[in-house]
Amino acid sequence: MSSNFFKSIAALFLVIIQLNIVSFADELQIKNGDNLANDKQREEPAIDKKESEEVKVAPNLDLKEVAPPPEPVVITPKAEENDTKTNNVETSNEAEVAEEDSYPSATAVKEKPERKKLVILGAEVPPGTSTRLAWSPQVSISGLALPTPVLVINGANPGPTLCLTGAIHGDELNGIEVVRRVMYDISPEEFNGTLIGIPIVNLQGFQRGSRYLSDRRDLNRYFPGEANGSLASRIASSLFNEVISHCEYLIDLHTGSLRRTNLPQIRANMNNPNVAKFVEGFDKIAVVHHSGNQGMLRTAANNAGIIAITMELGESLRIQENQILAGTHSVNSLLDKFEMYPRVFIWGDPKPAYYKSTWIRVESGGILFSKMGLGDNVSVGDVLGIVTDPITNQSADLAAPIKGHIIGMAVNQVVMPGFAAYHIGIESNQEDMTITEEESQLDVNPNDELDPE
Ligand SMILES: [Zn+2]
Repeated sequence: MSSNFFKSIAALFLVIIQLNIVSFADELQIKNGDNLANDKQREEPAIDKKESEEVKVAPNLDLKEVAPPPEPVVITPKAEENDTKTNNVETSNEAEVAEEDSYPSATAVKEKPERKKLVILGAEVPPGTSTRLAWSPQVSISGLALPTPVLVINGANPGPTLCLTGAIHGDELNGIEVVRRVMYDISPEEFNGTLIGIPIVNLQGFQRGSRYLSDRRDLNRYFPGEANGSLASRIASSLFNEVISHCEYLIDLHTGSLRRTNLPQIRANMNNPNVAKFVEGFDKIAVVHHSGNQGMLRTAANNAGIIAITMELGESLRIQENQILAGTHSVNSLLDKFEMYPRVFIWGDPKPAYYKSTWIRVESGGILFSKMGLGDNVSVGDVLGIVTDPITNQSADLAAPIKGHIIGMAVNQVVMPGFAAYHIGIESNQEDMTITEEESQLDVNPNDELDPE
């Protein structure tokens, strides 16, 4: 009891001393900065000065600390990405820092010359720091515009840029928690590369518990979007240009839709060798080949040279601990294998499991009760579920036409004829995910959009 008390007092003193050091450092920088800024003003043309005024150094925030919501940020149409100028970086940074004195903690961080400058959403994020920024698609009534939080960890050491996007469909909640668990468990000083996370892309849908935007459009059908297009197209374009264009790798987090649930799985275009290589970095998660539809974020990102996959976890409108744990584990495994954030893992070296897949549809309408569960192995003829007509009392068994693994399924509900109820994965290997003739008879069509991402 008393030792805890003394520890608390000691910690308090330490914080006070650190605060003093930080503010002393600010004063020093401001004084130096004044001189540098004056020199700069004399030597450089007016345009350069204007640009440097627009980019503020983002506050260095410990993402684990509880923080107030971010202030809205005015986004310049084209933010400079990863400015490659290494000469005078130190000088110009100090000048910029001196001009912007409202973010005291960031000024204490020195930029290492070997790291590229990260400028995103109108802010500079120095290496070895993390921060909360805000993305505003500017499609609302300006007085009611709601900035969307964007978390950024710019590691102290060089490495790739990985992005995590959650809740592009506003009712898909598991991914939101995955972004939080991954990002709040990282020390920027030990991170190699950059991690950008948007926990809730579709704030409009999230607030209404809806998959869609306020105009009933599906945002994940409008990427990369158009600046002068529909509401969905404008939001997609803004996200793509302001944030996604910074990513080298992208994990777009989703859940099943239309009251279906998914075993934790990756949907990826395995015909793209870069994507196939990326997928190898995950742990023992199911991987389903799907080349992706037009307008999906991962398709648009792949077309733009960004290596992107979709991760599906569970079902919509629910927070599912086991699904969140599996997703977090998979992303952490990737960060480890890509040496972005090495950790000591104790589970060995599990590899992803590759599947071709087929959907089993119900033939008669009624109430579906499942006899099998997510992740179960099934053999030919096994009864997956029973559909009973509530009026005629007639029941029909739904049997497995093929041996496989249940990687997605409908929850118990009222179904109509033709409803895709069970997603059966057929074990495959990474080299050959093409379907055989026999399988094509069984509706094994990787590009069949029955379970929309
Ligand atoms: Zn989705």
